[in-house]
Amino acid sequence: MPELPEVETVRRSLLPVVLAKPISSVDIFTERIVQNRPADEFRDLLVGRSFVDLTRRGKYLLFALEGGWELVAHLRMTGRLIYYSSPSIPLAKHTSAVFRFGAEGELRFEDVRKFGTLDLVPAGDYRSVKGLYTLGVEPLSEAFTLDRFQELVHGRKTKIKSLLLDQTKIAGLGNIYADESLFMAGIHPERSAESLTAEELERLHTAIREVLQLAIEHQGTTFRDYRTGFGREGSFQNQLQIYGKKGEECPRCGVSLQYRKVAGRTSHFCPHCQREQP
Ligand SMILES: [Zn+2]
Repeated sequence: MPELPEVETVRRSLLPVVLAKPISSVDIFTERIVQNRPADEFRDLLVGRSFVDLTRRGKYLLFALEGGWELVAHLRMTGRLIYYSSPSIPLAKHTSAVFRFGAEGELRFEDVRKFGTLDLVPAGDYRSVKGLYTLGVEPLSEAFTLDRFQELVHGRKTKIKSLLLDQTKIAGLGNIYADESLFMAGIHPERSAESLTAEELERLHTAIREVLQLAIEHQGTTFRDYRTGFGREGSFQNQLQIYGKKGEECPRCGVSLQYRKVAGRTSHFCPHCQREQP
C-alpha cells in the first residue's frame, strides 16, 4: 500500500504536468471510486476547470481546482495516478477513472483492487472525508517536533507500532516505514508507547523523519503495484533494512530477523537489536 513517500513521489511527479490544463472530459469506469456525490455531478463540476495546485496530507493527494473546489484522491491498496501525454496509449485493464486535458494528455486512475477513492469538496472543507478530517501531524513538517511526539506518546499503553500506524496521531506512516523506523531506532514494535525513554523517543523521532526522507529520495518502495506519476517503479525496496526480510540476517548484528503480527500487521524486527524488554 502506498505510504507517505510513495504518495509524495506521485505528487512531485504529477505537479509539473497536470496544472493549468482545462479538464475537457472525465470518464468514470468504477462508479464507487467517487465517494461523496453522484458520478455525473462529480463530472459536471470538474469539466472546464483546471487544477491549480497539488499538495499532500498523509496518504491523501489534494488537487486544488479553479472556483474553490478540491479533488481529494486516496490510492488505498493498489491505486495508481499516472499521467499519459498521449490519449492513444490504450487504457490499462483496471482503469477506474480518466481526466482528459484535451490535446494536453490525461490523468488516469488505475486500480486493480478498486479500493481507491475520489472526493470532490469545497476547498479545505474535509468534513465529508473522515480519514482526512481526522489526520494527525505531518511527520516531515516543522509541526512534528520532539515535544509534539512526546505529547502523542505520553501515558499511552498502546504498542508503539500501533501508535505509529494510527493516522489520527501521525499522518502517512504505514507498515513498511513504521518497521524500518523502529529498527533504525532499536525499538521493539510491541513495546508500550509510554515505556519508551526520552532517549528512545528522540531516536525514534529522528528515525521516522530520516526513513521517510530517504524513501522519498528513492521515489518510494515498489513491491508490486506502486508506480510514480509517470508509471515508473520506486527503488527504496533495495534500501530496506528489515521489512519483508524474515529469516534473513540482521544487517546490524547478523541475528536472524523475525516477524510477528502486531496491530493486525506483519511486523519485522531483530530480536537482538530491538529488545522486547528494555
Ligand atoms: Zn540485529
